[in-house]
Amino acid sequence: MSFKKLNIIQPILEAISKVGYQTPTAIQEQTIPHILQGRDLIGCAQTGTGKTASFAIPILQLLNQKSSSKKVIRSLILTPTRELAIQINENFKIYGEFLRLRHLAVFGGVPQKKQVAQLNRGVDILIATPGRLLDLLNQHCLDFSHVEIVVLDEADRMLDMGFVKDVKKILTKIPSKRQTLFFSATMPIEIKKLALQIVRNPIEITVTPISSTARTIKQSIYFVEKEEKLNLLFTILKDKSIKRSLVFARTKHGADKLVKKLASMGIYTAAIHGNKSQNARLKALNDFKNNRIRVLIATDIAAGGIDIAELPHVLNYELPNEPESYVHRIGRTGRAGVQGTAVSFCDEDQLKDLKKIEKLIGFTIPVMSS
Ligand code: AMP
Repeated sequence: MSFKKLNIIQPILEAISKVGYQTPTAIQEQTIPHILQGRDLIGCAQTGTGKTASFAIPILQLLNQKSSSKKVIRSLILTPTRELAIQINENFKIYGEFLRLRHLAVFGGVPQKKQVAQLNRGVDILIATPGRLLDLLNQHCLDFSHVEIVVLDEADRMLDMGFVKDVKKILTKIPSKRQTLFFSATMPIEIKKLALQIVRNPIEITVTPISSTARTIKQSIYFVEKEEKLNLLFTILKDKSIKRSLVFARTKHGADKLVKKLASMGIYTAAIHGNKSQNARLKALNDFKNNRIRVLIATDIAAGGIDIAELPHVLNYELPNEPESYVHRIGRTGRAGVQGTAVSFCDEDQLKDLKKIEKLIGFTIPVMSS
């Protein structure tokens, strides 16, 4: 199956090809055609399955078809955390690069003045955490009367975090004639009940959760102080028996910094992330595939498109804050029965992230001493 077969328009196909995805993931294949037809949806899928693109791509396409000259919000995405809001916004930026749709993420914990100014300039797609959104609604900063498509992302986490009342209140402000997409990683009865109150005649889709890591991957963790990480990375990468290593950083800036620092230590690498041009990404990938560089530094989003048959080594310079991303990252090695190694660094601030990862994969990652 190709993205083209899903009837996706050319500007989005170009953006998908630029980010390097070759085929749709299971959830994308199953949801995109229905969403494009305007159906409501209940999707049971975790982060790491490609779920964000499964709603972002058809939303962009639908809104683009009926482009509006008015400065009105036409799609609202509700998500429980600031990190997810930022990630989803980043996804819209990537797939919508060649369209003229405006999108914005709003979340709490930062001053709202700038967000209000951005809202006033006009936004087609608003991605928000419920608390901040409700604040803005109460201050009459938002008009939802033109919203056509609503997404509830990670509904089970919203329930856990006590957001359900807020969500229900927000939904009362949105026209009932709308398309609603409801996503949750798990589907206990109370979540299912909530879903059925919100959607109409939905398609129901479940994709297999990725909770188990391949047995062929040898995993280990180093507890390391922040200041010592670079030296440890250097020591590990110096070992020439590692033919290729994919190193994960959390941010674009962090990835670029690593490239520079490693170069100053004599290890030449390249980074791929959302700010790099397509040519720069392709060059980096080709250099990596053709063994001109042994080390490639990537952020989660950019790494989505990397498909390299022989990748023996993945290194998490920083642990991801979404545990599913850990499974996704290390799943890039140890494919097709080949032994892979996944090494992770964990500093004091990331102990909580490590606990979440170990809970998800169901075992304690062996600790190495540096
Ligand atoms: P998500 O489940 O939306 O958090 O996506 C998890 C990861 O998969 C992200 O790094 C995406 O960039 C990546 N991704 C999404 N769709 C695809 C695809 N069709 N092919 C390869 N990677 C993808």
